[in-house]
Amino acid sequence: MIQQLLKRLQEVYPEMVSWRRHFHQHPELSFLEGKTAEKIAEILRGFGLIVKTGVGGNGVIGVLQGKQEGKTIAFRADFDALPITDEKEVGYKSTVQGVMHACGHDGHTATMLGVAKVLSEFQEDIKGNVQFIFQHAEEKLPGGASSIIATGGLDGVDAIYGAHLFTDLPLGKIGIKEGPIMAAVDVFKLTIQGKGGHGAKPHETVDSVVVGSQIINELQQIVSRRVDPLEPAVVTVGVFQAGTAFNIIADKARIEGTVRTFNPRVREKIEAEIRSIVKGVCESSHAGYELEYTHGYPALFNHKEETALVKKLVQEELGTEQLVELPPRMAAEDFAYYVLEVPGAFFMIGAHGEGENTCYANHHPKFDFEENAMEVGGKVFLRLSAYYVME
Ligand SMILES: [Zn+2]
Ligand SMILES: [Zn+2]
Repeated sequence: MIQQLLKRLQEVYPEMVSWRRHFHQHPELSFLEGKTAEKIAEILRGFGLIVKTGVGGNGVIGVLQGKQEGKTIAFRADFDALPITDEKEVGYKSTVQGVMHACGHDGHTATMLGVAKVLSEFQEDIKGNVQFIFQHAEEKLPGGASSIIATGGLDGVDAIYGAHLFTDLPLGKIGIKEGPIMAAVDVFKLTIQGKGGHGAKPHETVDSVVVGSQIINELQQIVSRRVDPLEPAVVTVGVFQAGTAFNIIADKARIEGTVRTFNPRVREKIEAEIRSIVKGVCESSHAGYELEYTHGYPALFNHKEETALVKKLVQEELGTEQLVELPPRMAAEDFAYYVLEVPGAFFMIGAHGEGENTCYANHHPKFDFEENAMEVGGKVFLRLSAYYVME
């Protein structure tokens, strides 16, 4: 049976490429992916799946019901793009200025559509169900996963798997690790209210640039001096905006940053430290402030048995040398929410091919991936399907 599935995948592959390129040319930002969702739903209906749209927002769920009772396995693919201008020169370049599939979500979706197409042709042999969760808004908090779960997207699901195309790994390889694999993400936004004035009369002002600089410097001490060095943590300030002219003391400054952690206790501690630094520095500088601290995705933990299964199937299908034990990464992924609810695992699909085109990291304006990686990923999903609902 598995050989028939894999053969069909190979035959469907050119269609996966054309879907991928269509999505790549027509990217849509998180929470605004209406047309992409429509296209996904239309393709899934063509395979005879039961399709639900508008799940928790722009989410689309396609269910392939087997002819016999059995388990329900879910696969998740995300489909939102990023606010980046596409800088690569290829025929399938983004047609939308300032919006680009720079994280490979177009490929995740095309891979899953290919898997859905292949499995839909074997409906007679399926014992149980395969639930394809096409998720909107992975790139932007609060993300699509939690709202899909809240609207029943995981009801009846026995296990869930997801994957990410990853140009840090060569084509053909699959990376996975049991336990913590991606970090929790939080976001902080701070407005410092100083008192503006003439650049030559600093004593009559409260300089929001100086206050902001001091806060940013103090924040650097959280990870280096206040968190256990054996606990992974990141505090990054990505935005510091203030001022209009060289001789004006800025009235307001805006700081935005992100916190990445694995351990929930470290997560709490860092939030408390940020709050205390901002309060302390602003008070001693006579500045006012507004601090908005948002908890984003939790850390992603791969379940033990489900990770072991992916490893076993990868070794069988692709060979032991293609399986990579990945170190945890400080990037975040809202797949984390699904595996808080049901057992599951998330793996990385090697997407770095020959040449320069596919050497750029996810979120780079020249990001592209080796399209054959979609077939490699598809094989793993088909193996998982065979294990859960066909054997
Ligand atoms: Zn991304
Ligand atoms: Zn991504």
